Amino acid sequence: MRDVAQRVVSMADGMGASYVDSRVVQREREFISVKNEEVEVANSQDDMGVGVRVLVDGAWGFASTNRLDGRSLEKCARRAVEVARGGATVRKYPVQLAPEPEYQDEWIRSVEIDPFAVDMAKKLELLTECSKEMLREGVGVARASLVFERDTQVFANSSGSLIRQVFTESGGSLYALAVNGEQTQVRTYPCTIWHDIQGEGWETIEARDLLGNAPRVASEAVQLLSARPCPEMTTDVIIAPNELALQIHESVGHAVEADRILGHEADFAGTSFIDPDMLGELRYGSEVVNLFADPTLPGSRISYKYDDEGVKAGRVDLVRDGVLVGLTTSRESAHELGLDRSGGCMRANNFDHIPLVRMPNVSLEPGDVSYEDLIASTKKGILLDQNRSWSIDDRRLNFQFGSEAGWLIEDGQITEMVRDPIYADITPQFWSKCDAIADEDDWRIVGYACGKGAPSQDGRVAHGCSHARFTGLKVGGKKS
Ligand SMILES: [Zn+2]
Repeated sequence: MRDVAQRVVSMADGMGASYVDSRVVQREREFISVKNEEVEVANSQDDMGVGVRVLVDGAWGFASTNRLDGRSLEKCARRAVEVARGGATVRKYPVQLAPEPEYQDEWIRSVEIDPFAVDMAKKLELLTECSKEMLREGVGVARASLVFERDTQVFANSSGSLIRQVFTESGGSLYALAVNGEQTQVRTYPCTIWHDIQGEGWETIEARDLLGNAPRVASEAVQLLSARPCPEMTTDVIIAPNELALQIHESVGHAVEADRILGHEADFAGTSFIDPDMLGELRYGSEVVNLFADPTLPGSRISYKYDDEGVKAGRVDLVRDGVLVGLTTSRESAHELGLDRSGGCMRANNFDHIPLVRMPNVSLEPGDVSYEDLIASTKKGILLDQNRSWSIDDRRLNFQFGSEAGWLIEDGQITEMVRDPIYADITPQFWSKCDAIADEDDWRIVGYACGKGAPSQDGRVAHGCSHARFTGLKVGGKKS
């Protein structure tokens, strides 16, 4: 792989590119799903290829191939150079990159139990048992899924970097759907979107105890059918990590992406209300709100040592004491913003996609109150769990989120379950209502996926957070 990565770089270099980088990626993937005790999907696949990115006359070009012989590599390098030459005729300004040292390094995300070494029969038995347990509670659809991926990746560039990294990840989830002719209710565990994939091995599947949680998940879906709708009120809202992670993703993660802010990228998730002049000025939230990006956090599906531009990763503060102080950047956007270095946030979905600015563990720092005290100190409010629907405008300001379930809180006690809760607000006003965040014992990383770019890429993302309370938030519920 090292040889292929370096060969294609020197080929494009010899064709007149001023900068070249390449990524050779070998991907192993397994996805298994059991629905109502029957195997729905049992998919195992491998692929491998190389993507080459070049700068010619100040414009980017990119091409990829899954054929790794000399002729195919040369054709791929030539295509990337031709694309860049074409782009150079219409570019507004020449691309320039923030400086970055060269590295020769290797980094392997360590896992305790290789998920690909676990017997397929054991995986299918676990999922079938989970499905059976959920059906016993009377749900209409009982689905249990597992997903595993491993990317072995070599990055090389024309500055002399050569970096090998191995990323293994594992996820698994339960989905229970209950119907009664009038309504459809869903409960999931541990996370609605993308099976809460973690940068860990089979041990993460064992730790989440899917089988032990199956009866609860299904019975809550059934209970929701007879729950009353969430009352309309302005109240204190405590948002659970698996819901808050998506809130962070949509109203912070996308909003601070420098490529959106600079107008380089607007597909799929729009632009941003943030302007670079707002750094150090914009009050994003209350004083307890501290947000950061950190790809070096262990255990996440987006933990890495170097990004897909060969930039050594580190922590970037985004919001400090409620004030916007940083953005997620690439080498190109960092130069345009006048920064010394990129924040190391560029990732591509696979060898056949260009890297984009992504959200490397954009997370909310824990607070100093226990989860129990957070609930106990809430006189009147609602606890919201699991996102069910979301919408946010193109500039990441006005949003509405719906949750799978809510529980009313009265005098510090969790009381009645209510269905179809919805809340809405405007990004800086919402984060300014945050008055307390649970401590690090409650803090966890939630693994997500994110669509961005054209052609669209499914990117790995993850967000760390604990339960957080927002005062005076408007909530409501569907009546039917
Ligand atoms: Zn997204």
